[in-house]
Amino acid sequence: MLFGTLEAGGTKMVLSVGNEENELLEQMTIPTESPEKTIPAMTAWFRDRQVAALGIGTFGPVDLNPASPTYGWITKTPKPGWQDTPLLPPLQDALGVPAKIDTDVNAAALAEWQLGAAKGINSCLYVTVGTGIGAGAVAEGKLVHGLLHPELGHMLLRQEPDDPAPAGFCPYHEGCLEGLASGPAMEKRWGTKAQNLSPDHEAWDLEAAYLAQMCMNAVCVFSPEKIILGGGVMQQKHLFPLIRQKTKALLNGYIHVGEITEHIDDYIVEPGLGTKSGATGALLLAREAYSSFS
Ligand code: ADP
Ligand code: ZN
Repeated sequence: MLFGTLEAGGTKMVLSVGNEENELLEQMTIPTESPEKTIPAMTAWFRDRQVAALGIGTFGPVDLNPASPTYGWITKTPKPGWQDTPLLPPLQDALGVPAKIDTDVNAAALAEWQLGAAKGINSCLYVTVGTGIGAGAVAEGKLVHGLLHPELGHMLLRQEPDDPAPAGFCPYHEGCLEGLASGPAMEKRWGTKAQNLSPDHEAWDLEAAYLAQMCMNAVCVFSPEKIILGGGVMQQKHLFPLIRQKTKALLNGYIHVGEITEHIDDYIVEPGLGTKSGATGALLLAREAYSSFS
């Protein structure tokens, strides 16, 4: 039996099929154009592969309340053509299979918790640092939704004194986490893409300082048993020791648990599933949708 997975992003849609062993077998990427063009193309690909259920991890904001008339709709996105637009309903109707949707980062958190770096514990936070910054959370063995879903990328931070662009770049909040530490924020601040900055560039110490503020806030707000950092910017592995050390310094002994005071190397970690957390999470959502309908 095959399950369809969709990682819906603002620039591209990544489609895949997976099996009951949680293996991803085949992948296809198409650019995110208008819903009128993109949704039928995706439907055709899944239909050809006769998927038994569909799991979607999407950019947001997205309505995740199953009781809402706009469940599975993208809501207030700045992405042209996608504002207040149904995503799950047209795919589910055309394919006629069970389907489940969550945020891309909640999907990744789900996969990391069930199969990756947070396997065997009851809570974790998965943060992606890329074009945007977002986070998915598992608490007491469940994905966190609540009023909408967590929007950790827009937490307010305090400016670092040595930041040459301390105002930040978020169109809504200027100096929130995403406005200060996303890939595009780094590019605007330093005049070149983050991947072009050498590992000894001052940019990385500043980036680690902002991500450490986020980790401190996350520890205090969510109390996760693990923080997993993924996304394009975190390909810079030298960020990890800097972030760990700065998080510890910010917490300043206040959260006095061994996981942080002695074993922080195992507390703030890379994704156990590498770059496959999101797609694997969508596969788990598809499998959940299938089991709850059969
Ligand atoms: P997206 O968030 O769009 O799904 P990514 O997670 O790859 O995709 O994030 C893209 C952002 O990450 C860009 O701003 C890019 O400059 C930055 N980025 C991608 N690869 C690297 C890298 N190896 N080192 C540092 N920054 C990177
Ligand atoms: Zn913001």
